[in-house]
Amino acid sequence: MKRDDENIRWIEEPMLGWTGKTFLPLFIGGLTTTVRHLFSPKVTVSFPEERHEMADPLGYRGVHRLNRDEQGRVKCVACFLCATACPAHCIDIIAAESPWPDREKYPESFTIDELRCIFCGMCEQACPVDAIELTSLYDLSGKSREEMIFDKEKLLSIYDKTKDAEPMQSAAKPSSDKTPSDNPDAPGDTP
Ligand code: SF4
Ligand code: SF4
Repeated sequence: MKRDDENIRWIEEPMLGWTGKTFLPLFIGGLTTTVRHLFSPKVTVSFPEERHEMADPLGYRGVHRLNRDEQGRVKCVACFLCATACPAHCIDIIAAESPWPDREKYPESFTIDELRCIFCGMCEQACPVDAIELTSLYDLSGKSREEMIFDKEKLLSIYDKTKDAEPMQSAAKPSSDKTPSDNPDAPGDTP
């Protein structure tokens, strides 16, 4: 396009008055905002002494947990759907033959690299048996990279810690779907 194209509309820079040149209106506007915030209700909390109360903890995408079934066993059936759906490739599962007759496989090892995770929730969405969920825990910290790779035991312990405050989301659904786990011979352990 050429400079003299008739479709170009040239705009003149507005002339500043004396108030504009002294930045007085901007100064007063900024000061008003500061004073308004001084007297408005505070939305900040003094973490970690105070904790932020979430309106909907079940909707928050924080630290993961691996859920247990009614017999205390890991719910996961090692189908790899979560690992396949994960865009950050931070889920690593080693499947093994299940010691229980109500499923074919279970995760011998299940790890999530919490430092690589982008907390998108795709793993939770992909899981057909609601075995993996994101909790409302957000104060995730560690002293080393290794510490931030959560193994199966750690993920199960997060379920134990959060299950009362944040019941499994599938608990609200009809019991017809997903996990078969009515095996009376199965031990209550968590391999
Ligand atoms: S929340 Fe997203 S990035 Fe994190 S493990 Fe799940 S799928 Fe992967
Ligand atoms: S957590 Fe769910 S999606 Fe992932 S392997 Fe286990 S059963 Fe499959």
